[in-house]
Amino acid sequence: MKAFPVNAFPSMPGGGSDLDLPHIRPSGVEEQPPIPQKLIEIHGWGRAAGAMSHLHAIDSVADAVSALRSGAGRGVTPRGLGRSYGDAAQNSGGTTLDLTHLDKILSVDAASEPPTVTLQAGVSIDTLMKALLPFGLWVPVLPGTRQVTIGGAIAADVHGKNHHTQGSFGNHVRSFDLLMADGSVKTLERPTGGSWEALDDDGRLFWGTIGGMGLTGAIVGAVVELQRVETAYFTVDTDRCSDIDDLMARMSTGDDAYNYSVAWFDAVTKGRHMGRAVLTRGDKAKLSQLDPKRRREPLKFVAPSFGTIPEVFPNRMVNKLTAKAFSEFWFRKAPKHQVGALQNITAFFHPLDIVAEWNRVYGPNGFLQYQFVVPFSAHETFKRCFEMIVNSGHLSCLNVLKRFGPGNLSPLSFPMPGWTLTVDLPIEPGLDKLCDALDEEVVSVGGRVYLAKDSRLTAERFRQMYPRLDDFLAVRRQADPEHLFSSDLARRLAI
Ligand SMILES: Cc1cc2nc3c(=O)[nH]c(=O)nc-3n(C[C@H](O)[C@H](O)[C@H](O)COP(=O)(O)OP(=O)(O)OC[C@H]3O[C@@H](n4cnc5c(N)ncnc54)[C@H](O)[C@@H]3O)c2cc1C
Repeated sequence: MKAFPVNAFPSMPGGGSDLDLPHIRPSGVEEQPPIPQKLIEIHGWGRAAGAMSHLHAIDSVADAVSALRSGAGRGVTPRGLGRSYGDAAQNSGGTTLDLTHLDKILSVDAASEPPTVTLQAGVSIDTLMKALLPFGLWVPVLPGTRQVTIGGAIAADVHGKNHHTQGSFGNHVRSFDLLMADGSVKTLERPTGGSWEALDDDGRLFWGTIGGMGLTGAIVGAVVELQRVETAYFTVDTDRCSDIDDLMARMSTGDDAYNYSVAWFDAVTKGRHMGRAVLTRGDKAKLSQLDPKRRREPLKFVAPSFGTIPEVFPNRMVNKLTAKAFSEFWFRKAPKHQVGALQNITAFFHPLDIVAEWNRVYGPNGFLQYQFVVPFSAHETFKRCFEMIVNSGHLSCLNVLKRFGPGNLSPLSFPMPGWTLTVDLPIEPGLDKLCDALDEEVVSVGGRVYLAKDSRLTAERFRQMYPRLDDFLAVRRQADPEHLFSSDLARRLAI
């Protein structure tokens, strides 16, 4: 493993944890000239609900302050790499801030415990991992794609396969710089208080911004805590499970022995094998666990790319025939029972990143990702939801089941202890009825739907699902009384 050199990154100011960002004074908004902006169609990863929006490419914090000026009326929406599936990062008729050009890794404190990285919010997890791995440093929470920005990861409080052991992304954020509606940039440190009631205003703004879907301001930089790794590999145990009961039983009894756990399940097969699944669980591999060949370059990042999916697919590519064939192939290609296989990062975490723009496969109508969580005690409701999906005639190939651990202090963060299920459903007539029926089941047991995936929840359902909404609204009222920061999602959900 390389020692961490002080000037590993060109823009690195030489260590320390202070963000190297210009500090803008309050009331700067009026003083900044407006920037010309393009009116273009923007959509989420599901490509189902596009919106015409004025897109500002932000190169500096001063640019972002200027852009706030044009937000009067329909407001301003911060946007990262657009990997939220629905309408969270778009603003029809308003201004959208493209923050992906704030892409500098500023400094790394590799000696501290835990190590930390100070960076701008538009840096992607992909870029960050590639920069840090050679030094044996690891991003503690990884969503199912590396193509998300740090700002997007904080704003959605993303989770990974290790939620049951590490919590969500926000748990690892030491501090961030938030561009506020008044044009000032506020640095917010993670508070030490363990309850919402014990937090002061800044503490509440910190946790309200985590999971706050960009509605408290634009995150322009952050200090994120890291972990150490000896290798870029994982030791993985794989089990094929015969049905949903077998899968849930194995996860309930075995998950705690692993840092990472996730299951792909078959959402097409009915009858005796309904819910058959491939369960993969693992841990970071130690140097001593690598074979001699891999030991030569233990921290090599293997990230193959098989190109980009072209924009040629019609609707209904996911049909009975293709969904059955895919599910059969995915189930059969997995070993029945395998222990300790070595897998690289892409194979274990991000198989979907191998092809770019894979969402085009769903055709011009796009698709909807439905992800919900229900408490462990709602085992039966969970199974009923599962059966409703399989029996609905709506077909999903990318299906994920996970167990969440405890949530955090953020009022709008999605994870809570329980079962979480994700399905990708092509937009077809009748899908709204299925999702409405699922919402009803989910809400009846105190569960919720993930905002980063949502494009259709009603304001009423949302309020029922997120009982701490009023805590969030109070934070937002104080930070942005005029609701300058808004989005299509915010208007739909009356946030
Ligand atoms: C293939 C795939 C797999 C995924 N797997 C997972 C997973 O396993 N776990 C998980 O939790 N999520 C997962 N996601 C969802 C994704 O991680 C989140 O939607 C994430 O927020 C996307 O980041 P982004 O940079 O693309 O943000 P965007 O989609 O552009 O924005 C998402 C939200 O964050 C806000 N935002 C973005 N940048 C900022 C900023 N700088 N300041 C303030 N607000 C900001 C936006 O306003 C919006 O509300 C997956 C998505 C895809 C496409």
